[in-house]
Amino acid sequence: MTAFKLDIDADGIALITWDMEGRSMNVITMDVIAELSGLVDKVTNDAAIKGAVITSGKKAFCGGADLTMLESMGGIYADKVRQEGEEAAAKYVYEESSKLSQLYRRLEKSGKPWVCALNGTAMGGGFELALACHRRIASDNAKTRLGLPEIKVGLFPGAGGTQRVVRMMMPADALQFLLKGDQLKVDRAKAMKLIDEVVPQDRLIETAKAWIKGGGKGEQPWDVKGYKFPGGLVYSKAGMMTFPPANAIYRRETYDNYPAARAILQVVYEGLQVDIDTALRIESRHFAKILRSPEAAAMIRTLFVNMQDLNKGARRPAGVPPTNIKKVGIIGAGFMGAGIAQVSAAAGLSVVLIDRDQETADKGKAGLHKSLSDRVAKGRMKSAERDSLLEKIATTADYDALKDCDIIVEAVFEDRKVKTDVIKKVAAVIRDDATFASNTSTLPITSLAAEFKEPKRFIGIHFFSPVALMMLVEVIMGKETGDPALAAALDFIRAIRKTPIVVNDTRGFYANRCVLNYIREGHLMLQEGIPAAMIENTARMAGMPVGPLSLNDETALDLGLKIVRATEADLGPEAVDPGMKKLLEDMVEKNQRFGRKNGKGFYDYTPGQPKKLWPGLADLLPKKLTREEIEALDVNELKQRFLVVQAVEAARTFEEHVVTDVREADVGSILGFGFAPFTGGTLSYIDMMGTKKFVELCNRFVKKYGERFTPPKLLIEMAAKGESFHTKFAPKKKAA
Ligand code: NAD
Repeated sequence: MTAFKLDIDADGIALITWDMEGRSMNVITMDVIAELSGLVDKVTNDAAIKGAVITSGKKAFCGGADLTMLESMGGIYADKVRQEGEEAAAKYVYEESSKLSQLYRRLEKSGKPWVCALNGTAMGGGFELALACHRRIASDNAKTRLGLPEIKVGLFPGAGGTQRVVRMMMPADALQFLLKGDQLKVDRAKAMKLIDEVVPQDRLIETAKAWIKGGGKGEQPWDVKGYKFPGGLVYSKAGMMTFPPANAIYRRETYDNYPAARAILQVVYEGLQVDIDTALRIESRHFAKILRSPEAAAMIRTLFVNMQDLNKGARRPAGVPPTNIKKVGIIGAGFMGAGIAQVSAAAGLSVVLIDRDQETADKGKAGLHKSLSDRVAKGRMKSAERDSLLEKIATTADYDALKDCDIIVEAVFEDRKVKTDVIKKVAAVIRDDATFASNTSTLPITSLAAEFKEPKRFIGIHFFSPVALMMLVEVIMGKETGDPALAAALDFIRAIRKTPIVVNDTRGFYANRCVLNYIREGHLMLQEGIPAAMIENTARMAGMPVGPLSLNDETALDLGLKIVRATEADLGPEAVDPGMKKLLEDMVEKNQRFGRKNGKGFYDYTPGQPKKLWPGLADLLPKKLTREEIEALDVNELKQRFLVVQAVEAARTFEEHVVTDVREADVGSILGFGFAPFTGGTLSYIDMMGTKKFVELCNRFVKKYGERFTPPKLLIEMAAKGESFHTKFAPKKKAA
């Protein structure tokens, strides 16, 4: 065995320690399934063994299934469809993907007691193993997280998780737990009865063994005659109070875009009407179907495999030694600068936070104190954590304090003169080997780098707001930016646990280019006379987290007007839509509607109440559709317009080498601006539809709606050859 160790003590209790060779984390692979299967046989058949305790030899218990194994199953399935037909291919996926579930059921029915001794985090298939054991004991480890987060990559728990969880708690609670993919701390898991006992780490194994010695039974409650579901029957008053509303909530939250979420509802609903063995088969069948869904394939690839590659430094230049980032300098203690200071300090880095004068710098830090204190008040943070975070941030107006910083990030006003002045001041004090970054959203990095004494050490690090919540960071290469600066930027981003994409220097970089198209599409629909509520709703139905008008309110309408005017000045009047410009002028200058920040934008924001669309908006618009015209609108086409207009822009950025790696276009689109996650991201969306169909759709939209849908040459060529982004530009994997 290479994954497990087996020790049988004098009392006949088997201690099975999961500790995979050559891996830092235990995961479920085909080898693990085979070895565990042998162990289950041994425990079952060896009369000298009284029961088994399973634990891990690593810090965590198990990270879940090896998703690359599931990903490769998708490839085998596709080959089999071609060679042996759909039925044989589907049978293969069902048989392979139900193996783990059957193994856990054998363990559960072995007749001997199994105890799971959870010494650390257990996720997905690892936690499902715990659920199949007859008792679950966790050590009181504050870092432990327990959960079934499969939904986050378009899957659902397929090794009995759905069926055991609904047999342990009320179905409404089980559905929430499964549909949210929550990762629970030990205390919470115990309160939800998902684990039985919490003990200190040094007593974990002895407590587990004592339970077996004390007569703990190898039988699950649902295998005992007369067992009753905690929530009663599906066809009962309680069931009717649960399932119809659950269905409505599912629709509200997903717009039926997530087959895995729909499958969770189905397997719980169907599974609660049958015995556990039938229920497990139902779960396996749905699981095999979801595993073959394009959504699961796209989400696993983007949100697990590719995101992990980027987090591990897939784009880090080889041969540059790691930068040991300990101290960060941040200039500008405003909205963004304070956020960057917060995430840096939270990662344990020392921060020097500079502003024009001591008072403004202190104001930035005081704002942080307030927002962190709000978190403390809500019980989301301990006051000691807040204090130690703030202690790491030193405020000053003195640039000399930047002398020993490893990396310096400027986040001052978006004004070239102000930035140039700051760049000169930094140049006078920066250490010879330190990197200098700008958080600008619109100014070309190459032009800012030219103001710095050594442009090769200058780079863009573009954060998204709010910094603490947004996981993406765009790294922008100026023409002269060198590899050491890129490596240092990526090392910094890794240290603060964000996901980087590396893009080349153009107006709007990557994310803003795509997302501005999204906002503009909303504006153009308004000009067509489509009601604002319909625009917002169809955008959400397409899978976007917020409608384009809400998003415009969040990013501020006055900023939107500024961007429109700057674009017009730089690229000429035909680069902007006159209707959009007029509406923004009317909103901002005539009606003082700046967006969420002054409580008045496309929506009215009243504290303590849900936001409401502003009734005055219709009066500012040139056109209003009649009821008949509205009813004749094709909702599906409206949905497509939102996604296509962003995806076609992503394809352009790829053609222009702004983005050079398909993984980054996809991951960046979901983490940066919430592009419909079930698609796997902008380029995956095109691949999923097929480049040929996508180009046809673009051409149709060009005729109907305008040039903005024009597909780039690259896409037309790919469509003609039947190529996809992820095959044509499959990234070369490098060892991380
Ligand atoms: P902000 O107005 O909140 O903060 C700017 C800070 O810079 C202020 O505290 C100001 O006092 C300080 N400052 C101005 N001149 C200075 C000088 N000469 N020396 C030192 N400090 C000075 O602005 P913000 O929203 O935090 O934006 C900062 C930068 O981040 C801009 O370049 C902006 O384009 C970029 N950015 C903003 C967002 C966003 O959503 N707000 C997102 C990405 C990037």
